[in-house]
Amino acid sequence: MKDRKHIAILGGGLAGTFLALNLCRRGHQVTMMDDRNPNSASRAAAGLYNVITGRFGAKSWMAETLLKEINSFFFHDEWPDLNKYIHPEVIYRPFKTIEEYNKWTVRSADPEYAHLVEFSEKPIYPNLIENPFGGIKILPCGWVETRAFVDAAHEFMESKYPFHFIPYRIAYDQIDLANKTISRDATFIRFDHIVFAQGHFLTENPFFPKIKVIPNKGEILLIETDGWKLPFTLSKKIYMVHRTKNRYVVGSNYQNRFEHPNPSPEGREEIEFHLQKAIRQAYKVVDHWAGIRPTTPNRRPIIGTHAKYQHAHVLGGFGTKGILLGPYFSGLLADRIEGSSPDIPEEAKLDRFL
Ligand SMILES: Cc1cc2nc3c(=O)[nH]c(=O)nc-3n(C[C@H](O)[C@H](O)[C@H](O)COP(=O)(O)OP(=O)(O)OC[C@H]3O[C@@H](n4cnc5c(N)ncnc54)[C@H](O)[C@@H]3O)c2cc1C
Repeated sequence: MKDRKHIAILGGGLAGTFLALNLCRRGHQVTMMDDRNPNSASRAAAGLYNVITGRFGAKSWMAETLLKEINSFFFHDEWPDLNKYIHPEVIYRPFKTIEEYNKWTVRSADPEYAHLVEFSEKPIYPNLIENPFGGIKILPCGWVETRAFVDAAHEFMESKYPFHFIPYRIAYDQIDLANKTISRDATFIRFDHIVFAQGHFLTENPFFPKIKVIPNKGEILLIETDGWKLPFTLSKKIYMVHRTKNRYVVGSNYQNRFEHPNPSPEGREEIEFHLQKAIRQAYKVVDHWAGIRPTTPNRRPIIGTHAKYQHAHVLGGFGTKGILLGPYFSGLLADRIEGSSPDIPEEAKLDRFL
């Protein structure tokens, strides 16, 4: 290990938690502050990871690198008890049109895609789902129980490492960046480095006034079927992810303008509209929640260091892809904190806002 450092992390969502695991494993001391906001993205997320996304079904940015890192991170020997929160599972994406079917007959043989997909030229489970033109199965996918994972990771770190969790909101005037301290009650927390991993709250952080994070609200339904099951995650405008027995998480929608962070009747209506077009069976809604994603104008994460204070860093902007981006980009920031110069992709650098 390099010199042991004390790192304060503001924010205990996926970004802060992946980073803390990385730093603790490397022998550093971590103090994390998080108010466990029920509408934080990490507490609301469906937790899917998928590398063929978007309206046109294109391969995601850095797909192979990010996937490799997910697997080595979640199945790391250091935390065997945390891998129960990851569930590798194929995603089935029905074709919307015959043109899309034609496109995938060619694309599924392309070496860029062939190892990622399986072409299904005929409808499958036609009594359960709408897929008249067949679809593609996207193979290296899955989902993570994000809320349970972050809570379990915090508990695990407290039991195994010099990790301390403070379950409160910290005001900016409690933080003295120049003197590397956070005041709390009558005491001071002294740190060597501080990382702001605050999700969409980054946008109001006065230490990084030019950062642009766009809060994007998403809602999710938990539905129950009367016994029917799908052996994959369905992705057809909305996704439907198997949770327990006959329960599925269904979502989501994307709202850049919203009046409150809570579930809404309009959100439910929108999701159910798409769900009813995707499946051919009855269900009932048993729960409904919402969260706020931290998205960025170029849809890339934000990673970097303060121009004046080289011990103050940012990690965030994970948008719709916290699971895919988190393990890899938290590793890059851990490298930087240890003093090396990791190769951060241009489009993810904090400098783009400076
Ligand atoms: C409905 C929905 C569905 C989603 N589905 C998926 C999905 O299927 N797959 C996927 O990969 N991603 C998904 N996402 C996105 C994913 O959840 C996010 O990319 C990720 O969780 C962002 O993590 P974060 O740690 O940056 O932010 P957050 O989860 O917002 O965590 C930041 C934390 O910092 C805390 N904080 C901020 N300021 C302070 C302060 N001053 N003091 C103390 N605490 C503070 C916040 O309260 C919060 O708890 C979804 C998001 C939503 C909302």
